[in-house]
Amino acid sequence: MTGTATAGNLLRLSALDALELMRTGALEAAALTDAYLSQIAKNDKIVAAYLRLTTAEARLKAAANDAAPAADRAPLAGLPTAVKDVLVTEGVITTCASKMLEAYNPIYTATSILKLAEAGIVMLGKTNMDEFAMGSSTENSAFGPTRNPWDPERVPGGSSGGSAAAVAAGEAIWALGSDTGGSIRQPAAFCGVVGLKPTYGSISRYGLVAFASSFDQVGPITKTVRDAALMLQYLVGKDPLDTTSVEHPDVINLPQDKDLDGLSVGIVSELVGEGIDAGVKKVFDQAVKKMEAAGAAVCETSLPHVEYALPAYYILAPAEASANLARFDGVRYGFRAVGALADITEMYELTRSQGFGDEVKRRIMLGTYALSSGYYEAYYGQAQKVRTLVVEDFERAFDQVDLLISPTSPTTAFRLGEKTGDPLTMYKSDICTIPVNLAGLPGISIPAGLADGLPVGLQLIGPAFSENMLLQAAHSAEAVIGFDAVSPLIERAD
Ligand code: GLN
Repeated sequence: MTGTATAGNLLRLSALDALELMRTGALEAAALTDAYLSQIAKNDKIVAAYLRLTTAEARLKAAANDAAPAADRAPLAGLPTAVKDVLVTEGVITTCASKMLEAYNPIYTATSILKLAEAGIVMLGKTNMDEFAMGSSTENSAFGPTRNPWDPERVPGGSSGGSAAAVAAGEAIWALGSDTGGSIRQPAAFCGVVGLKPTYGSISRYGLVAFASSFDQVGPITKTVRDAALMLQYLVGKDPLDTTSVEHPDVINLPQDKDLDGLSVGIVSELVGEGIDAGVKKVFDQAVKKMEAAGAAVCETSLPHVEYALPAYYILAPAEASANLARFDGVRYGFRAVGALADITEMYELTRSQGFGDEVKRRIMLGTYALSSGYYEAYYGQAQKVRTLVVEDFERAFDQVDLLISPTSPTTAFRLGEKTGDPLTMYKSDICTIPVNLAGLPGISIPAGLADGLPVGLQLIGPAFSENMLLQAAHSAEAVIGFDAVSPLIERAD
């Protein structure tokens, strides 16, 4: 990009565009990495997307890429990537934004990161999140909140708020996140970027610190739908180290430029009514009109049990979390309380009460209660039944339509502190995304427009393993919607 290169236009490049420029020799990986690192140096004091930078390693990897002959380069060589701090990285402290793991130095690397690293990415650092991925605003981080690049008074969403904010701020060309109830899609919506939660099992969870194992999935946060497809190509696959992972039945394609002719789309009636902000609804309706004009056959589709998805999730996810987080006991991992401790029980108690933040403790208590004898059937058993009903609702809907759509979140990014006092209101941020996790389906959020200057996300949901169709539809929708705004932090870099 010699001659025309400005910091701003390097920061606007999609991953695919950057790869093409590097392939032709018009751009060096070192220059691209430098552009992102200097944007971080300029803005991350305010945005606080990163918990830890791996600057020296990033520069080395970018330089090694430039030194290799173009024909020998790995397919994703030189792409500056942010990684959510819930994925373990050998030799790089991995905290899950918890005091419990403040000094945890993993001895292995998550499969998803290894696969991308083999494909040549340059990891810039580890991003902030809600502690152990529990939250919707990244305010539950033990190390302070991340701020939204569109408005620093507002949250970036969560729990992958650091990853979404990094992409939106021009502090990474793309990022890895994880999604248990919406943690990729909701922050992507709040930050005006693309977030894909793939079908449960399609990407290895090995090295993803477990929150709720029957829901958790790794996935990409990117600037474009095609970039999400590109990253997904390298992430999918069965991993012997994760027995719930499976081989994806399809080779993942890069979506092509075409219209939406022949596609039937159902608007989830339960997710466009009460509780959805007027500004979000308006942007959503406009996006639907554009999809119709591009050939999609749009109708209303009901998921009758979806209203019970949120309460069921807040039984099942905490139940799984209470079991998963039992391992943080002051013996095997991380933090241990010190002082005059009477016995090992007191050591456990103090370690866990000092090491975990309030939301994590709330989830452990909810989950332990729901699983306790006498209450198990009434709570956990009932919630499992609801999960089955939601799965069946989706199956019936996909007998009628190819895809379902809804807003990604009922509101745009809210103000820091606005919902921290009221967990229930916070939980409602995920009302549109949680049903998708209950059923293990793929869902993607794409930017649909702005409401009062803040991004609104459109969620598209497909049947299990329909990533190719879902990504193709999302790419075509992205094109007709034509959202091309970037956050002020990227605008100012021009
Ligand atoms: N916000 C939801 C929760 O707090 C979802 C989190 C996630 O997907 N990791 O559980």
